[in-house]
Amino acid sequence: MIIAPEKVVGLTFELRVNNGNTDNRLIETAGSDNPFYYLVGQSGLPPAFETALMGLDAGKKFDFTIDMLEAYGPVEQEAIMDIPNAVFTDPSGAFDAENVSIGKFLYLEDEQGDQHRGKVIGLQADTVTMDFNHPLAGFNLHFSGEIVEVRTAEADELAHGHVHGPGGHHH
Ligand SMILES: [Zn+2]
Repeated sequence: MIIAPEKVVGLTFELRVNNGNTDNRLIETAGSDNPFYYLVGQSGLPPAFETALMGLDAGKKFDFTIDMLEAYGPVEQEAIMDIPNAVFTDPSGAFDAENVSIGKFLYLEDEQGDQHRGKVIGLQADTVTMDFNHPLAGFNLHFSGEIVEVRTAEADELAHGHVHGPGGHHH
């Protein structure tokens, strides 16, 4: 059975990234003891990832690179912004220094009520610098691994838009 729409795929992978200045840094793995499962079209990864795997069947190995422009895009300077300290107050009205520190990821709500995940990258006297780029923006993604399972999705998996059972949701 090959990878196609309405299939569930299990695979092992190693993800290495580089942005032209770094070596191929290993950032994520899914080994044979804990494969990554996805419903075709719902992997949550860039479409180019799933496109590269279409037509493969269990036992096939893969090794490909997705250019950053087909992954999470370049780093956008407009997505790095200084936000007034007043936005980061705790319930007592004081600056929430415990949760707002360099390297922390925070969710902020925009005027439309949408949540955006950003990383704290700078602390000034009156402002906090936050980077709302995807953590993998600016990186080429190199995936290698092996397909371990391809099966037809159950009706309730298609209805829910995710995989059930091993490697998937339990509910
Ligand atoms: Zn479900």
